Amino acid sequence: MDSKKKKKPEKTIHGIAASNGIAYGRAFLFVQDELDVPHYKVEPTRYREEVERFEKALVATRHEIAKVHAEVEKNLGPDEARIFDAHLLVLEDQALIGETIREFEKTSMNIETCFMSISQRYVAVFEKIDDDYLRERVSDIRDVARRLLANLLGRTAAKLGELITDRIVISNDISPSDAASIDRSSALGIVTEAGSRTSHAVIVARSMRIPAVVGIGALTDTVESDDMFIVDGYDGVVIVNPDETTLFRYGKLKEQKRTFESRVMSVNRLQSETLDGTRVPHFANIEKETESDLAIRYNAEGIGLYRTEYLFIASDDIPDEEAQFAAYRKVAETLHPRPVIIRTFDLGGDKVRSNGVSISDPEANPFLGFRAIRFCLEHKDLFRTQLRAILRASAFGNVRIMYPMISSAVEIVRAGEILDEARAELRKKNQKFDEKIAVGAMIEIPSAAFTIDLIAEHASFLSIGTNDLIQYLLAIDRVNSRIAHLYEPTHPAVIRTLQRIFADARKARIPVSICGEMAGDPVFAALLLGLGAQSLSMTPPLLPSVRYMIRHMKYSEARKLAKDALKMSDPKEIYAKFADFYAERTRELNVEDAEE
Ligand code: PEP
Ligand code: MG
Repeated sequence: MDSKKKKKPEKTIHGIAASNGIAYGRAFLFVQDELDVPHYKVEPTRYREEVERFEKALVATRHEIAKVHAEVEKNLGPDEARIFDAHLLVLEDQALIGETIREFEKTSMNIETCFMSISQRYVAVFEKIDDDYLRERVSDIRDVARRLLANLLGRTAAKLGELITDRIVISNDISPSDAASIDRSSALGIVTEAGSRTSHAVIVARSMRIPAVVGIGALTDTVESDDMFIVDGYDGVVIVNPDETTLFRYGKLKEQKRTFESRVMSVNRLQSETLDGTRVPHFANIEKETESDLAIRYNAEGIGLYRTEYLFIASDDIPDEEAQFAAYRKVAETLHPRPVIIRTFDLGGDKVRSNGVSISDPEANPFLGFRAIRFCLEHKDLFRTQLRAILRASAFGNVRIMYPMISSAVEIVRAGEILDEARAELRKKNQKFDEKIAVGAMIEIPSAAFTIDLIAEHASFLSIGTNDLIQYLLAIDRVNSRIAHLYEPTHPAVIRTLQRIFADARKARIPVSICGEMAGDPVFAALLLGLGAQSLSMTPPLLPSVRYMIRHMKYSEARKLAKDALKMSDPKEIYAKFADFYAERTRELNVEDAEE
């Protein structure tokens, strides 16, 4: 670090604890604006690459415009095509290009940021000139700038994970595709201004055990890239430029947490069973096929939720049948003979794009919009392709299919018709698959939660997605940090609904599991079990702590606690009740109590 610089004062900020762990490191500022253009500093070792990225995007944009020019000329005539000559001229404008590169050399900001700032400067200048011809050029510049940016972002954009090693990512918001591109060697920790515990980027961070604090409010404007950060993902605290005493304190805390977690790991290979002998099978949630090894490492009894949409989110295109089949087969084979529940694409909501490529038009309320099964039922080819890939993978393991966002039995029937078509296509080609493949539905919309008997007629298993169920029951957008404090899994409406789902499922003789984030929080283990949960599915690193909790309680205790909770009205008091129970049962794991 620059020794001439004055030591900056320490600052503590509170946010939402999103992913457990403590990280310490240098900041990497990554900011997305409304146009989804990220802003960040480029490391000197990547300068050449960055300029090449710009050059490649210029060439690609030129090709694109020339193609449009030819098409318009052919279909509409040379006069109409002339506008594209003007566009090509913008791209050949050496001043614009040269200034962008100079701006990059001066600021080291990524090329999109530099190009945006220079083109906006041009637009501002031309807009003021009292000359029709020159003012016309404003829209040309805007148009070309949009195309060039799309090319930079879509095809040649560096992924967040490739930009960094060992940094704390500080961002206004991180998309699921950004999150999918990072791992523990690139990002030490994540801090975002927006977000909540159940936003998908956070779920991904949790599966990679990257400490994260979200929803901390305005920060990126004041952060400099040489700032040092502590991220305390347990308590939702971020410390900017910590002093020696704080560093020492956190060093000690990290040690204590490590001991706690290694003690929890002592149950990793043991059965998930209560003290009075009730088995509660534990499954893993995964986003990528590579995580199937992680599920095995944490002794999952199968995959309870495979979020296949990450195949799309993590790449530039929708993967074809072969690519999907390879991924599903890998998971099926790795887990064999354990069951693998493959959820069909849940695109939409906060999972709408991959590298600038949107799956659909922006919507005012994406979580209430064109998402998941609704999207698939209207994109039948894409859906059938996925179903074929899943069916083919079923020949290599114990595969099941699950539909997301089911709001009524009718949707399962419609999805089933497409599944039948996929089956028929495979039969025609003599491709093998499990003829008796089980088909299930996610229960995450209140209308489904209250029609379990009807849904059970068309499904052979159910899985409760509490992340969505809570947002829809309480009318709390799950990614809106402004109202994240109102997102309460212990709200009486939530626990009553859960109880009712379990009771109705029992009556309908259909197995039901939980795969929302609630299942992976050991504080809720007694509540869920007591309400009637038969099995739980969570991100693999969380399996040991929930298993530990299950092994340290009686089923009868869980029943009693849940019964009492059902009579209570304050979500915070209900939470405290289970948090106390958790603290009591895990006391022996704490370093101070155990040996100090
Ligand atoms: C849920 O909604 O609880 C769930 C598991 O699905 P997702 O988080 O992918 O929406
Ligand atoms: Mg969901």
